Amino acid sequence: MNKILIINTGGTIGMVHKEKGNPLSPLIPAKNWNEIAGIYPVLETFNTDYVQLKDLIDSSNMNSEIWIEIAEIIEKSYCDYIGFVVLHGTDTMAYSASALSFMLKNLEKPVIFTGSQVPMQYPRSDALQNLITAIQIASAEDLGLPVVPEVCIFFRDNLYRGNRARKLDATNYFGFSTPNYPVLATAGSELMFETKYIKNRPTGEFYVEKSLEPDVMIVQLFPGFNHSILKSLFSQGNCSIKGIVLKTYGNGNAPTGKDFLDTLKWISEKGVLIVNVTQCSTGMVKLGLYEASAGLLDTGVISGTDMTPEAAITKLMFLLGKYKDPKKVNVLMQEELNGEQSLSHYLINVESENLLEKKHKIHIQIPERSNLKKLKNAVFYIKNIYFGEKFDRSAVISITVKSTDNYLSKSFEKTVFSNGEDMILDIYEFLKKLAKFENNLDIVVESDHEISWDKINLSIYTGV
Ligand code: ASP
Repeated sequence: MNKILIINTGGTIGMVHKEKGNPLSPLIPAKNWNEIAGIYPVLETFNTDYVQLKDLIDSSNMNSEIWIEIAEIIEKSYCDYIGFVVLHGTDTMAYSASALSFMLKNLEKPVIFTGSQVPMQYPRSDALQNLITAIQIASAEDLGLPVVPEVCIFFRDNLYRGNRARKLDATNYFGFSTPNYPVLATAGSELMFETKYIKNRPTGEFYVEKSLEPDVMIVQLFPGFNHSILKSLFSQGNCSIKGIVLKTYGNGNAPTGKDFLDTLKWISEKGVLIVNVTQCSTGMVKLGLYEASAGLLDTGVISGTDMTPEAAITKLMFLLGKYKDPKKVNVLMQEELNGEQSLSHYLINVESENLLEKKHKIHIQIPERSNLKKLKNAVFYIKNIYFGEKFDRSAVISITVKSTDNYLSKSFEKTVFSNGEDMILDIYEFLKKLAKFENNLDIVVESDHEISWDKINLSIYTGV
């Protein structure tokens, strides 16, 4: 067993001239492997089998049903091959590679998507080199090269993690890029693998998850965006949309107007997930960094950190397909699932008891899976502090964060002048120390005046 399975879904790479040998005749999908490989005998020297979808498509026609079809081909033949090459149109390749990266669980073998900007049969085509290199990367085990147990895209000189790649050029042979993650390998005269960026082989058994929720959408903001269009869409009784990827500006910024924010809040209160990703080609969403994104935090919009829009929408389809509870999807959407984002976000909410007291003691349990050893950021947030109707003076609030055995502690103070103020504490340094011992902490909030609040949460970002 040292064969590769080539799965042809369509796209330019598998197109041939309608009349054999006539470069002026129109391009149509090849009928079989011989038609594609026929003019390059070198392709016959590789140990490959070939299957194609019943209907070869321009990848503009890709959809979740075809992703399931591709996943099922891999599932059925998984034990018979050492790797898989998926021929695919370039236009939506990054979506398909992202979707498959979430669907193929415990993948131990390379699944390499490739395509070309022009058909194999054109002189100077990029197809041959893309295909041969993809086959070689998929054959790693046989060639004594590092095995990449991931869904990837190979294009021109680079191997990309599939859920980090984007098509950024419609003509250039480099075509793809990986805005927020390094390339996994480069193909010059030698194949050079960047093993530190490649996933470890999983230990569990391979399986495929096939439920995908198609009722999601991407909304891109632009100056003058008319949010009432969203309002009317979601007011319709038959609106089935369960999730939105909202492409915002810069670090995740959006208009600060009350109407806009109220619309988002109203949508998310209906159980629709809104995931914030940036329109910028590199960088990440940092909710709360600027005032222009702080408002989004209160609307229920969640951060997609540095996910590509392709990864964000397919992850949303995957999670909504798998879990029916939007609250669960909300939590999991913010955690890294398969290398698609550089940070995981854990939001620990503490329900308010609305009791006016001088001293409150809160116990917080940080989820074990958060891996505090890779902590990057930790912010403690008290929203809408309330001193009662008659409050007309200033008050000092002191907050002490402690390990449960009192061994570590740190105190913060703030003078508050009116009802409705917030308190935001950076507790990164404290949590970093605490993480060496435990995942629990106590927080004591004290004031010389009785207080309550609307909401308390602890926001933790960890590296992956
Ligand atoms: N429109 C084609 C597709 O995505 C372009 C290509 O294959 O490169 O199917």
